[in-house]
Amino acid sequence: MSHEPQTAAGAGALLAILRDGRARTRAELAQLTGLARSTVSQRLDALVQGRWVVPTDDAISSGGRPAAAFVFNESVRVVLAADLGATHARLAVLDLGMTVLAEQAVELPVDRGPEATLDDAVAVFGLMLDGLGRGLPDVCGVGVGLPGPVDHATGRPANPPIMPGWDGFPVREWIGHRVGAPVLVDNDVNIMALGEHRTVRPDTDHLILIKIGTGIGCGIISGRRLHRGAQGAAGDVGHIQVVSASEAVCRCGNIGCLEAVASGAAMAAALRAEGIDARGSRDVVALLRAGDTRAARLIRQAGREVGGVMAAIVNFFNPSTIVIGGDIAEAGEHILAGVREAIYSRSLPLATQHLTIRASRLGDRAGVIGAASMVLEHVLAPQSIDRSVAVDPAAPVGSQ
Ligand SMILES: [Zn+2]
Repeated sequence: MSHEPQTAAGAGALLAILRDGRARTRAELAQLTGLARSTVSQRLDALVQGRWVVPTDDAISSGGRPAAAFVFNESVRVVLAADLGATHARLAVLDLGMTVLAEQAVELPVDRGPEATLDDAVAVFGLMLDGLGRGLPDVCGVGVGLPGPVDHATGRPANPPIMPGWDGFPVREWIGHRVGAPVLVDNDVNIMALGEHRTVRPDTDHLILIKIGTGIGCGIISGRRLHRGAQGAAGDVGHIQVVSASEAVCRCGNIGCLEAVASGAAMAAALRAEGIDARGSRDVVALLRAGDTRAARLIRQAGREVGGVMAAIVNFFNPSTIVIGGDIAEAGEHILAGVREAIYSRSLPLATQHLTIRASRLGDRAGVIGAASMVLEHVLAPQSIDRSVAVDPAAPVGSQ
């Protein structure tokens, strides 16, 4: 008669209920789950021992004796989140309630190769943890977004065009050995889509986030889950051919790609051809803000080009929300107007009837928020919690 696994079984399900606030007391948990009060107590004890939940002072009185309430302990562990771009990275430490505890934007060019880049990222994480008075044992997981295609099952980059030396590199294992926690890796646009979905409108079933920055790509939420495709290449809309780009050579080697006319890099190149100093997406937006009419015209036109491709995707996929993210989204209505114009004139009315088209609410933070969401969904999944409290149910409180 071994009791430990049984005592712990189902603790993860109770934690999920406490996290979303559907119940707070033993009686409420018993009522909601149909479990015996004694079973609920055993499972709660396992969660308290693992420090996943803590008793709270604000007891709930229902006429008789006040009942002890329990809440999810959001500060029990932390999540490390890294959103790596071509030249810059945003790194963040979050608690389990998705509050950003520390955040840093660092120069971290990925073309130096995986070891040098990830070495630096891990070092910065170490300093951020120090600053918070936390250490590696507090880390429950690491989420990483990379600027290229990733095989999500293995966490390895798959032929990433702008990441020399990264193809097939075991990012997950490499970071895992140094941090001692599970590591989840995805491409940057997927994690942005996940971040927007999970924190802004988690009740939306079908959402597309299109990132317009140096390149163009989109992340797809279908049935509230990320749709990655067979090889993790879903959403690569930047290389769809558009008529207006018939002369433009794309960095992928093809001619006529959307990215070759509507990306931040393409707009910056067009401005340079007119003698204006613009190195990338951010300069294009800065020029717009300074009142430059050529930048305004280019951004509006880029919106129409992106909208033209999205119109076909709206007909095909029928999302309820399209989110524009990436540096160019900072242009706000200047880019949205063009996107809307093309989608509403070229998609079918049934598909656009209840369609929302908006700019990203999370902005620069969408990537790290999404990377952390990806980790939490893994670490706080009921079966993961069941395993964690079953492995060492007698771990003393405060042992971490
Ligand atoms: Zn291309």
